[in-house]
Amino acid sequence: IITPVPVPTLFGGTEKCMLLTFHDQTPLRRVEEMRADFVANASHELRTPLAALSGFIDTLQGPAKEDAKARERFLSIMHTQATRMARLIDDLLSLSRVELSAHVRPDACVDIVPIIRQVADGLEPLARERQVAIEIDLPASATIAGDREELLRLFENLIENALKYGASGERVVVSLKEAASGDGTPELRVMVRDFGPGIAPEHLPRLTERFYRVDVGDSRAQGGTGLGLSLVKHILNRHRGRLLIESVPKNGATFTACFPQAKLSSSA
Ligand code: ADP
Repeated sequence: IITPVPVPTLFGGTEKCMLLTFHDQTPLRRVEEMRADFVANASHELRTPLAALSGFIDTLQGPAKEDAKARERFLSIMHTQATRMARLIDDLLSLSRVELSAHVRPDACVDIVPIIRQVADGLEPLARERQVAIEIDLPASATIAGDREELLRLFENLIENALKYGASGERVVVSLKEAASGDGTPELRVMVRDFGPGIAPEHLPRLTERFYRVDVGDSRAQGGTGLGLSLVKHILNRHRGRLLIESVPKNGATFTACFPQAKLSSSA
C-alpha cells in the first residue's frame, strides 16, 4: 500500500514522502484458495447425481416410457441418487455448522455409552448386509462434556466406515479405555477397529480433508460423500478432543476418538 505522508524538513517546511506498507497476503490467499476448492468440489459432487437424475428422467420420458420393468429399475436408481444428494447436503450443512461454532459447553455432560449403543443398533441392517458382527466392549457408563447430536454423528461415521470399508464376514470392534494424552491429561478413548484391507500410510494424513477419498469409485458405490471424517475431526475439535488413525495395510484400521477428562464407572 502506498500512502503519501508529509514529513517535516530541517528548514521548517514539510516535504511529501511516500510510505510503503507491505502485508503478507499468503495466509489470506490460502484461505481464499481453500474456499474456492471447496465450492468447486461441492458443486462437482452435487452435479454428478444431478446429471444421473436428469439422464434417467429423459430416458423415462422417451425410450423407456412404455417399459414397466425398465421404469422400475430406473426409478430405483433415481431414488439412490436423490438419497445421495440429500446426504451430501446434510453433511455440508453439518460441516459448516460445526466449523463455525465454538467449543461445546464444558458443563454439558453426556454419557457416551448409550449413544454408541444406539448408533450400533441403527447400523445393524448394514452390518447384516455386510455380514459383519459389531462387537461392543464398553463400560456401564462414560461421561464427557459433549453434544449428544454431534456425538451420534461422530460414532455413526466411524462405525459406518468400519462396516463399509472393513472386510465382509469379519468383525468390527468398538471399545473404550482410559489413557493419558501426550501432556499427561487423562483421556477417554473410543476405538473403532475393523479387519479390512486397511489404508496405505501415504493416505493417512489426508483422510480428514474435505472430499478426500482413497478410492472415489468405492466411496461413491458405498454412498459416501468424502465429508465424514472431516466432520468427525471438527466435532472432536469442538469437544477439545482429537482423532488418531492407525492402520496396517491388509490388516484393518483403527480410528480412535479421544476426549479429555474421562469419568468412568464400573464395567457392565
Ligand atoms: P466417505 O464418505 O467416502 O466414506 P470419509 O471422510 O468418511 O468419506 O472417509 C474418507 C475415505 O477414507 C473413504 O473414502 C475411504 O477411502 C477411507 N476410509 C475411511 N474409513 C476407512 C476404513 N475403516 N478402512 C479403510 N478405508 C477407510
